[in-house]
Amino acid sequence: TESSESDEANFEMRKSKRMNLEREKMRPLNMDKRDVNKSIFKDRSKAGSSLADVQPMEMDMGVTFDNVGGLKEQVHSLKEMVMFPLLYPEMFKKFDIQPPRGVLFYGPPGTGKTLLARALASECSSENKKVAFFMRKGADCLSKWIGESERQLRMLFDQAYQMRPSIIFFDEIDGLAPVRSSRQDQIHSSIVSTLLALMDGLDNRGEIVVIGATNRLENIDPALRRPGRFDREFRFFLPDRKTRKEIIKLHTKTWDPPISEPLLNTLGTRTIGYCGADLKGLTAEAALNSLRRSFPQVYESNQKLAIDMNVVQVRKCDFEKALRKIVPSTHRVEDRVLGPLPKQVRPLLSQTLTNLTHHIKKIFPHCRLGKTAVLPATLTHRPRLLIVATEGQGATTYLAPALLHFMEKLPVTKLDIAALFSNSARTPEEAVTSLIHLARRTQPGILFIPHLAKLWSVSSETVRATLCTALADCPPNAPMLVLAVSNVPHHQLDESVQHLFNIHYRETYRVDNPGENERREFFRPLVTACSQPPYQPPPPPPPRESLAVLPAPDSRALTEREEKRLKRKE
Ligand code: ADP
Repeated sequence: TESSESDEANFEMRKSKRMNLEREKMRPLNMDKRDVNKSIFKDRSKAGSSLADVQPMEMDMGVTFDNVGGLKEQVHSLKEMVMFPLLYPEMFKKFDIQPPRGVLFYGPPGTGKTLLARALASECSSENKKVAFFMRKGADCLSKWIGESERQLRMLFDQAYQMRPSIIFFDEIDGLAPVRSSRQDQIHSSIVSTLLALMDGLDNRGEIVVIGATNRLENIDPALRRPGRFDREFRFFLPDRKTRKEIIKLHTKTWDPPISEPLLNTLGTRTIGYCGADLKGLTAEAALNSLRRSFPQVYESNQKLAIDMNVVQVRKCDFEKALRKIVPSTHRVEDRVLGPLPKQVRPLLSQTLTNLTHHIKKIFPHCRLGKTAVLPATLTHRPRLLIVATEGQGATTYLAPALLHFMEKLPVTKLDIAALFSNSARTPEEAVTSLIHLARRTQPGILFIPHLAKLWSVSSETVRATLCTALADCPPNAPMLVLAVSNVPHHQLDESVQHLFNIHYRETYRVDNPGENERREFFRPLVTACSQPPYQPPPPPPPRESLAVLPAPDSRALTEREEKRLKRKE
């Protein structure tokens, strides 16, 4: 008996010691070695195989809110909701306000969710009262050992509590807390429950705030989005023209000479669909293009050549080249939803587009104002428009994207066949409900349904009923424009669709074929182009002068300590 008791005690002691050691390894990003226990910096390889995949995210302390282009609204609310309760708890105590416990960032990839979190981390560190900031990628917390992920999570929250006030940021949280369903395995389900329990266990003083970021909101367990958990949600949009200009300016602020204002304007207009990361890529590509243009020799030699950096200047043509090369990521993942009328079809469709925009301005006064405009609720009533066009009239290809481009400042939620059926983890009915919810949450906004007739013919009775009831449930004066395109005339559509878009309320618009004058305008440039002499390739450029060869920069010499360590290892 005695020996087994001491065994037990021994085991307990060892366990608690190990827990302590491991907890200390969860180091906040924004504190340096002196701030936390030194043991964290011990060789990671000693930490044991179960911890090998827990790689803390690196932190760049140079990023502040000034490095974030646009997103003013998010920065403001974030300061209000996350930093103020941590820094001025007395204010919240006095007025008995409950600070939020969790904030969810969602939106397309590359729109600055992680960037904003990083900025928040360094802003938190610059105050005299430090806030510990923990950052984890969703998948980092997963482990091959059963129960290990839950333990890691518990330890993370434990450590955050010990070092409170603190912020825990989960990047790509959809990997960590996916929708629990019968189709998913047990393991995830237990991680989600652990996370729920841990978040419920946080007290109401706002000393620990959990932030999650995701590209796919619908893949997150709905229980996490209940009040008391992630009760605030920030939607990140693709940047609009003004913000795109701002982001390009941010990423080129060190350039000498700076980009001219007219070029910035052109770039802002021509980068529809680009997210922040694409814009960053665009500026990098343009800079490389300018090097390519000024010194093509460097590509032919593998030695370092003497080049005069002052000669390398980024011009408009470099950006033109970069624009042709960089495909915005939204176009890669889903098809284009908005863009102006292309030049060649403009003579044919511009009159129709003008009529349509005129009509939309009447039924939906928010169309040019943007997300933040507040108009009296009486100004809208059931803003809906069904564009009826036969095959080949370019309604889905040109007109609808141009209309959405006209309303560029408003968020668009697209409800099409792909959105309903592409995700096998949810039923089409769930997809309809969640998409319409999403559209309703971001008002004023647009719900865009291309190929309405086709959608109707392939969906089941329940999907149609879900769609009709969800739309009927929207308050009639809600500023949500329902814009649909159909290639079947209104009277041949299903009766329920006819009800959705009432012809007597002028909720449909029939596209007419172009008239004689429009056709004439369309053919004029084609005829002119045909009468030009054939294209002659430009003569090859004269050979370039050869440049002097410079010695390549030495690689960094190891310090004495590093050398010693390397020797020992070897
Ligand atoms: P995600 O939303 O997928 O987390 P990130 O925050 O990682 O996207 O963005 C990737 C990169 O794109 C950032 O490092 C930043 O350089 C650039 N970027 C994205 N949005 C912005 C923005 N609003 N302002 C400035 N740079 C941005």
